[in-house]
Amino acid sequence: MAEATLRETDAEIAKLIDDENRREHETMRLIASENYASAAVMAATGSCLTNKYSEGYAHKRYYEGQQVIDQVEELAIARLKKLFGATAAAGGEEDLHVNVQPYSGSPANLAVYMAFCKPGDVIMGLGLPAGGHLTHGHSVSITGKFFKSVPYGVRREDHRIDMDEVRKLAKEHQPKLLWAGTTAYPRTLDFKAFRAIADEVGAIFAADIAHISGLVVAGEHPSPFGIADVVTSTTHKTFRGPRGGMIFCKKMHAAAIDKAVFPGLQGGPHNHTTAGIAVAAKEAALPSFKPYAKAIVENAKELAQALVEKGFAVTTGGTDNHLMLIDVTSKGIAGKPAAQALDRAGIVANYNSVPFDPRKPFDPSGIRIGTPAVTSRGMGKSEMRTLAGWIDRVVSNASNAALIEKIAGEVRELCSGFPAPGIRV
Ligand SMILES: *Cc1c(COP(=O)(O)O)cnc(C)c1O
Repeated sequence: MAEATLRETDAEIAKLIDDENRREHETMRLIASENYASAAVMAATGSCLTNKYSEGYAHKRYYEGQQVIDQVEELAIARLKKLFGATAAAGGEEDLHVNVQPYSGSPANLAVYMAFCKPGDVIMGLGLPAGGHLTHGHSVSITGKFFKSVPYGVRREDHRIDMDEVRKLAKEHQPKLLWAGTTAYPRTLDFKAFRAIADEVGAIFAADIAHISGLVVAGEHPSPFGIADVVTSTTHKTFRGPRGGMIFCKKMHAAAIDKAVFPGLQGGPHNHTTAGIAVAAKEAALPSFKPYAKAIVENAKELAQALVEKGFAVTTGGTDNHLMLIDVTSKGIAGKPAAQALDRAGIVANYNSVPFDPRKPFDPSGIRIGTPAVTSRGMGKSEMRTLAGWIDRVVSNASNAALIEKIAGEVRELCSGFPAPGIRV
């Protein structure tokens, strides 16, 4: 007799997955950190590789039976080295070590602390309210509790990272570790300037490219490879792989990074995820990936411009990357009710603080919008114009249920013409 299917074993979960497939198909995914993994990536992550324990690294494992797992991990590493090594300003693939075992972006960053810092050491990163990530020393994160965090910010005049302030703070506080990486920042990062500051004060320079690794691969954002001591990333944002993390470092730091990941922080790696990362790396090396990344940025620029034309306050006036931050208070609404109204219209974004936000983080002034996922569906500039019109109408009429329902129908109609990778309805 054939083995029971998911639907036969657990009709409730099977139905919830159906529901999520439908939701993802019928709505515009504008959360800047999200994307659609391909069917191939999902096939790898849904495989028997989830069954195997493989603590350690290839050919140095603690359990037997690694004939296949070692090959999976080595293939993922070789593909990533080739892909990201090619973007290096110096050193290329030769001086690159890769660890694909971090369970996600946050554990990858913790491994960097474990490799280079002791509790109480000074660390510096972009503050969360200015667009930085929790794991770069925010007060509620373990990274702000176990280390002495000195956040830098953005300039009041133009909301861009103030490299003079970074330099001044670094000289004053002598950090052990300097982060460059963002989660809600619409402009390019100057990795060379961070490197110069780290060198002046003898800090380790870590670039966190969680959001932009797909853009870096495609040359749509300057690469930190050959510049930073360590580069961390998630694998599921613009890189479009499974939910996971990865760390790249110069060879001199390989042992420290590997020991920090295992046995420092983790047990057995998620081999099904490693296989999915290998597939994503293969996809990112295809000729189609460069135009994809280029279109992400073009779509973001088009959408930001269209929203400016509709009278929205777009932080820094536009974007260089895949995302934009919009202060919606000038439309007479706060970020959270705006995001909730958009969600009812099938336009899914998140509420977000804007720089120097006078409102609270749980009820901020802005929304964050990103184009990686809609670009994966093949949407282009004309769809971005349509989208800007919908966003304006919804945000300006957030309590008009009939209008929002009508727009939700239009959104569904548009989405049906742009099937998302990996989604089965
Ligand atoms: C998303 C993100 C992370 C964390 O990734 P998780 O997989 O959610 O743990 C780390 N750093 C930056 C800059 C991010 O944007």
